[in-house]
Amino acid sequence: MSARRGLWQLAQRAFASHAGRPGEAVPAISNAHRLAPGSSVIQVPQRLLMGPGPANADPRILAAQSLPLLGHMHPPFLKIMDEISEGLRYTLQTDSKYTLMVSGTGHAGMEAAIANLLEPGEKIIGIWGTRVADLAARYGGDVIELKADAGRSFSLEELTTALETHKPALLFLCQGESSTGVHQSLAGLGDVCKRTGTLLLVDTVCSLGGVPFFFDKWGVDCMYSGSQKCLSAPPGGAPFALSERALEKLKGRKTKPATFNLDMNLIGDYWGWFNSRSYHHTGMVSMCYALREALSIVQEEGLDNMWSRHLEMHEMLWHGLKKLGLEPFVERDADRQDPTPARTPLTRAGAGVTFCSRAPGAGVDWAAVVKNAMDKYYLEIAGGLGPTAGKVWRIGLMGYNARPQNVELVIDAFRDGLQKQGKL
Ligand SMILES: *Cc1c(COP(=O)(O)O)cnc(C)c1O
Repeated sequence: MSARRGLWQLAQRAFASHAGRPGEAVPAISNAHRLAPGSSVIQVPQRLLMGPGPANADPRILAAQSLPLLGHMHPPFLKIMDEISEGLRYTLQTDSKYTLMVSGTGHAGMEAAIANLLEPGEKIIGIWGTRVADLAARYGGDVIELKADAGRSFSLEELTTALETHKPALLFLCQGESSTGVHQSLAGLGDVCKRTGTLLLVDTVCSLGGVPFFFDKWGVDCMYSGSQKCLSAPPGGAPFALSERALEKLKGRKTKPATFNLDMNLIGDYWGWFNSRSYHHTGMVSMCYALREALSIVQEEGLDNMWSRHLEMHEMLWHGLKKLGLEPFVERDADRQDPTPARTPLTRAGAGVTFCSRAPGAGVDWAAVVKNAMDKYYLEIAGGLGPTAGKVWRIGLMGYNARPQNVELVIDAFRDGLQKQGKL
């Protein structure tokens, strides 16, 4: 066969594969939605993310995420999954066997908690916004909402009364409320929940790693979190944990959880909770590398150091903002991170990781301050959300970002933004 004839045959084969199967007519390819020449490489500007999340990821975590892929059932990958479960035990301060990373953001953790721990018709007392109430109703829960004024947390007495009155299957609390900056204290609740036959479910999406949290000592039964706030990883993985009591509830269900994707019987089995490993879905390999690295950074720094660093940055921020005439949205010390120096970070009554600030006086254009921060400083701060829309700015001091130079920049951006409006 001549070389020319060989090439002709190759071309014919290539054409044949484009033309599809014999007898299958293939139309011409349209380029209407094809990348324009010159724009095929992704462009990402540098931003400092000091809003309620995501926060900037630690470069070491981003590097971990770019390591080669492994198969989701390969032994070296299973070892990384085990390291995540163990790293979570330290981070959550628990000996529970039942820790893992849910494939998805904080909301997936929220849905996993509700879908697995609540059976249709059971009561849930929920507090954080309307999301959980909506989710619980979708799974057939009987939702009892406790309402407080925005900017206030619930006292142990108020929660005890609600628990004793309703004896719900589940109590949902959010430790750090990112729409208002409220910190919900958890100490003492576990005992009351045990008395009323209630499982205690806690959202720590924006607080885990930033403020004290003790899964076992505080009697928490289920906790979910997020990777992109104080843990400094990209969004996409939700730390998740169940207590022995919560696992019994799951095992004793009369009905299967209505979700296959978030059925913790199946996902727990993939993560080795029941001493075997079976495939449920392809684990988020790169996201697991990221969380594995994020948790080892937490362990290297130590929880006590991490908590005091967040507290220090919080105090530094408030010191600077007060000089500009700004006030915290959350009025009572007990409802937010408490700067009282007499208390150690471990015993302070209130803490929060996302802080909100009231605008000084009337007539301040909050959106112009946000825009100026972005345009001039490449800095993200956020406006309010839900009950705080139009009333506050939200500033996050989370994880890798909770460092003095960033706090200084936030204060500078506020000073500049307010000066431009003649408010200083
Ligand atoms: C950010 C946040 C969430 C939502 O998490 P996603 O990762 O966006 O799904 C839930 N709860 C709190 C308290 C948060 O701050």
